[in-house]
Amino acid sequence: MLSSTNSQAQFFRELRSLLRAPYPLVVIRTHEENRAAALIERLARGDDRPVQQWSPIEGFGDRSRNISAALDAVASDDQNTIYVFRGGHRLFEDGDRRRRLREIAATTEVDGPSLVLVSSIPIEAPELDKELSTLSMPLPSREVLGREYREIFPPDEMPELDGERLVAGALGLTAREARRAFHRVRQQYREARERNAIFDAEQAILAEKKRMIGEDDLLEYHALDRSLDDIGGLDLLKEWLDKRQDAFSEEARNFGLPLPKGLLLIGVQGCGKSLTAKAIGRHWGLPLLRLDLGVVFDGRRSPEEALQNAIQTSEAIAPCVLWLDEIEKGFAGDRAGRSARVLGSLLTWQQEKSEPVFLVATANQVQQLPPELLRKGRFDEIFFIDLPERHEREDILRIHLNRRGRMFPDDTLDELAVKAEYFSGAELEQVVVSGMYTAFADDRDLTPEDLLYAIQEIVPLYRTYEEDIKALREWAHGRARPASQERELLDFFD
Ligand code: ATP
Repeated sequence: MLSSTNSQAQFFRELRSLLRAPYPLVVIRTHEENRAAALIERLARGDDRPVQQWSPIEGFGDRSRNISAALDAVASDDQNTIYVFRGGHRLFEDGDRRRRLREIAATTEVDGPSLVLVSSIPIEAPELDKELSTLSMPLPSREVLGREYREIFPPDEMPELDGERLVAGALGLTAREARRAFHRVRQQYREARERNAIFDAEQAILAEKKRMIGEDDLLEYHALDRSLDDIGGLDLLKEWLDKRQDAFSEEARNFGLPLPKGLLLIGVQGCGKSLTAKAIGRHWGLPLLRLDLGVVFDGRRSPEEALQNAIQTSEAIAPCVLWLDEIEKGFAGDRAGRSARVLGSLLTWQQEKSEPVFLVATANQVQQLPPELLRKGRFDEIFFIDLPERHEREDILRIHLNRRGRMFPDDTLDELAVKAEYFSGAELEQVVVSGMYTAFADDRDLTPEDLLYAIQEIVPLYRTYEEDIKALREWAHGRARPASQERELLDFFD
């Protein structure tokens, strides 16, 4: 099931062509009867056809719940009415009704009536296979959820809320679920405002979504709290991502662009692989799901089944970003052939998927990566993230100081960046935090000397893992694209 605008339009077109053909029996699989009925009304109006709606409670609005009588009405229709049966699975519950449906289908004229059976329950009727055309209605698009959002959060009442992010957070819900989630969050938001408390509306939407979809411990929803601006350096990688910001839009499809498949980020520990995965969701305005490969292999169910579940959920939420952290750990060792099978299914899906699920895989240890993962066509690009260079270290220090409301002049930051040679992004963040502890303990504000002191105290991982890092660099050379433009100081060919 898709929720992109593209798939909504495609669904609409397919339904229209089935009804125009006409296919006499069309099944729409959905939990959203009202939305399906509204869509059919729209289609019928466009084609100038009458519509009759039947429901198990209201009948045709006359409260006659007798299904046989309803089918008699359809059989004797001499117009081209579209009959919408809500709870449509009931029509298949006994053999006589199924036979009646077959007769109706067989005798329907080209300009006769159509039956649309709307149901959330799968319909099993092998004897009607030839007559039935089944479509799954996609989950509501961003536009539909945006309309729900604006009704519940009028922009003039709550201008401080970031509507786009809240709508992105609700993707994957039906329109009704989204409405309920928005109402609940609005209530919580008002209560927080009365108490003057800080309230994170986006987290609250994600929490609602987890409750509604039923949180699966395989997949974890991440708040979209990091942006590309939170990443220091990595200019080439950021440029690549920025260029694809609208890659999931209908305009991109119409332009003839393929759907982006995914990225593999390989690199030195603590240099921003996870940070980048998080920022992609925010920059592209897509929900971010993290798949825990540890849980896939935890033995509580078969790993194949676990992966299938995760894929299905992510497809239901698509368009989205699916993040596989430390992918090498999932596929290390043989695990009695299981990891090879799971990897096989993952790669097949990755190669063939038509749903807009963008896979971001991250890895530190390339030796353990199965070679088939690196084959062309699996990922759109493989990026190598190295230790930051001098100007990148300056950038990273600036970002982490900024996050904590501090700032030093550029030349001071540059001097610190020179001293912090071989520090990773995570270690530079640690420098800022540790400097702040020192200042706090002395009951004064942070100074550049505190940072310098921290730089001298912290031993970067590079000192311990120099050989591994150099081996990683050599491996990446020619196999992966550098995430940063220029390497000027690290000893590549040492
Ligand atoms: P690991 O392989 O250990 O998971 P990683 O490459 O995924 O490492 P991150 O988890 O992204 O590294 O980095 C840890 C933290 O270090 C980030 O949350 C961020 O605060 C900081 N950091 C790392 N790289 C950068 C960067 N380029 N710019 C800003 N902050 C960074």
